[in-house]
Amino acid sequence: MLKYIMRFEQLDRCPVCESPEHAAKFTLPDYLYAVPGTFEYVTCAGCATVYQNPRVALEDLEQCYPSNYFTHFAPGAAAPDGPHDAGRWTGTLRKAIRRYADGTSADDISAFAKFSGAILAWIPGAARWARYGVRDPLAASGNGGRCLEVGPGAGNTLRRLHWIGWEAFGLDVDAAAAATAQAATGCDVKVGTLTGVDFPDGYFELIFMSHVLEHLPDLRASMERCFRLLEPGGRLVVVYPNPESLGIRGTQQFSVNWDPPRHLVLPPMNAAINLLKSVGFQDFETRTSAGSAAGYRKIGRQYRAGRTGKGFENTKPSIGDRAFALYETVLVMFGAPVGEEIRITAWKPMN
Ligand SMILES: [Zn+2]
Repeated sequence: MLKYIMRFEQLDRCPVCESPEHAAKFTLPDYLYAVPGTFEYVTCAGCATVYQNPRVALEDLEQCYPSNYFTHFAPGAAAPDGPHDAGRWTGTLRKAIRRYADGTSADDISAFAKFSGAILAWIPGAARWARYGVRDPLAASGNGGRCLEVGPGAGNTLRRLHWIGWEAFGLDVDAAAAATAQAATGCDVKVGTLTGVDFPDGYFELIFMSHVLEHLPDLRASMERCFRLLEPGGRLVVVYPNPESLGIRGTQQFSVNWDPPRHLVLPPMNAAINLLKSVGFQDFETRTSAGSAAGYRKIGRQYRAGRTGKGFENTKPSIGDRAFALYETVLVMFGAPVGEEIRITAWKPMN
């Protein structure tokens, strides 16, 4: 058993806007894996970013990630979200769309699903989503450009990026995770950090990171490096937990969005945009997604009920969780930025 002696460092400025002013928010235990200790979070007075302070020191961050951390699947293990999301409604819909877009067989789906597929197959991008499970912001230009996924986990998205025509690279701070992703995708997955890795400037057309930004101990420097690694006109796509989601208003400190001690920094959307502007990005496309709302609310309820240190459990969300997720989905559709995940696409100017 690993013995935890965790060291902490005090931050004198917000890692997003560099304001020295902040207010205590809460002190939390690790609900997910029960890493020993409690972890303090503050809210920045300048940009409302929630960040860990004092935070786990760089040298000890590794101790926050038990070997069963959920991105670590054994090499060759079945991807949890396969190309057809078997058994889920999204899988059925993708099958139905492909029936019309690609002429593939779909005998086992309902007449209603077939009808929906026939309609949706007309929407630009729907066929690509149906084929690869990758939505438009990650689409390849068809010119064989290079893309980089930071933190590819088990490699599901990296594999799809490769399928749709990118020359896809991965980067992971964890050697075991990098080896897993490389074995699962056949792509070159390097071990290291954004600030340390040795790709040349202007090498990539797309950099993608999902649920990585909030783990970065050097957020500003990492975003600066992303900007330099992109070619002119290239884009950065980041997805991370929304510190101002609707779910948090219900689950409060039990929200899975905080995930102490692994989550170090959670900027509201505007704060993240300002940070990206300050390193040179100019054009932005933003939205939030309610796709995780039911699952997140389920976990928050379990934490509140005292279930801690047991990792994620593969149970279905309750009726209440699903009703809540539907409500959040409707609000997001009407433009309220309250989904559980923030999704930002940021473009590097052409010159
Ligand atoms: Zn700030």
